[in-house]
Amino acid sequence: MRWRFIVVHHTAGDSGNLEYYRALHKKKHGWPDIAYHFLINNGSMNTSIGQIEVSGLWEQRTLNYSTKISYVNYLGIAVALVGNFENHDVHPLQYEALIQLLANLSMRYSIPPERIVGHGELQNTQCPGKHLDMSRVRKDVAAAIQRKREAD
Ligand SMILES: [Zn+2]
Repeated sequence: MRWRFIVVHHTAGDSGNLEYYRALHKKKHGWPDIAYHFLINNGSMNTSIGQIEVSGLWEQRTLNYSTKISYVNYLGIAVALVGNFENHDVHPLQYEALIQLLANLSMRYSIPPERIVGHGELQNTQCPGKHLDMSRVRKDVAAAIQRKREAD
């Protein structure tokens, strides 16, 4: 199985959607596509809060990694939230969408919550921001998985 971990990002901008960031990543970095597999919207640009968009990078399993360091998106599923969480908290609906998506991916691809990491835990970056507490995310994902298992 290719997927070893899940990497959580923020976009560092408070306005955007998949189309917007795809265009930005192509233009700004010269990448072939957006650098994320999943994008969790924040309500800007005609999206709804917590709405999840799936990129072509995920659907086509393209090997054009669209990152500076290719292993990050080769071994890791890239999940990004629209917003800048250095500056403010994550909206509760957006946070809940994150936890549910991470729990589903974790179960589907047998990636334990300990292997869900913030981008900044792998590389020297502030992404996904100090207001997104990754140890809390891991705990909440573990609890969500437990609830899903009990519901079966
Ligand atoms: Zn990042």
